[in-house]
Amino acid sequence: MQLPSSLLENAVNEFAKLPGIGKKTALRLVLHLLKQDVTDVTTFSDTIAKMRNEIKFCQRCFNVSDGDICAICANSFRNQRLICVVETIRDVIAIEATQQFSGTYHVLGGVISPLDGIGPDQLNIESLTHRIQQEQTEEIIFALSPNIQGDTTIYYIQKKIQHLPCRVTTIARGIAFGGELEYADEMTLARSLANRLPVQQYVKS
Ligand SMILES: [Zn+2]
Repeated sequence: MQLPSSLLENAVNEFAKLPGIGKKTALRLVLHLLKQDVTDVTTFSDTIAKMRNEIKFCQRCFNVSDGDICAICANSFRNQRLICVVETIRDVIAIEATQQFSGTYHVLGGVISPLDGIGPDQLNIESLTHRIQQEQTEEIIFALSPNIQGDTTIYYIQKKIQHLPCRVTTIARGIAFGGELEYADEMTLARSLANRLPVQQYVKS
């Protein structure tokens, strides 16, 4: 793509580095910014730079935070002895959006994946086991992706904490709401049967 200005081209190249943004979309966004007031565009770029420079990660759960401890960890109305273990901050946001969980989180930063060179040491696992010990956690709920890497991670952590008096559970895996049974893969269908619920409980949720 030949552009008439190197300044324009640099901006387009920066936008095109974002996930899901191709060169054409990047150009559209940059041309849109060009039509805005200079002050609005300055606010836009300053906000992003400030976010990147100043954002912190909670020292306890590794969620994003404005301070040393995130708002969820600091909230005494939440069950601080219940930890939901997730891969990323996006998972925290997704679970929070359900408004069904009142415990805390622990963001691992990924899952164990030897093929991608990700071992337990690169993840926030040590801090999790330390937390469970220190905080006398009553239950941890694994909410990891249903795949081999997710299962490997659950197995690894479970082995490390099995001597502790902490209940270890995992979120149920099953047929998507609104999905059709016949199109579910065999693994999902098999797990749905294994993780079946009493109807009374099912109706309540
Ligand atoms: Zn936190």
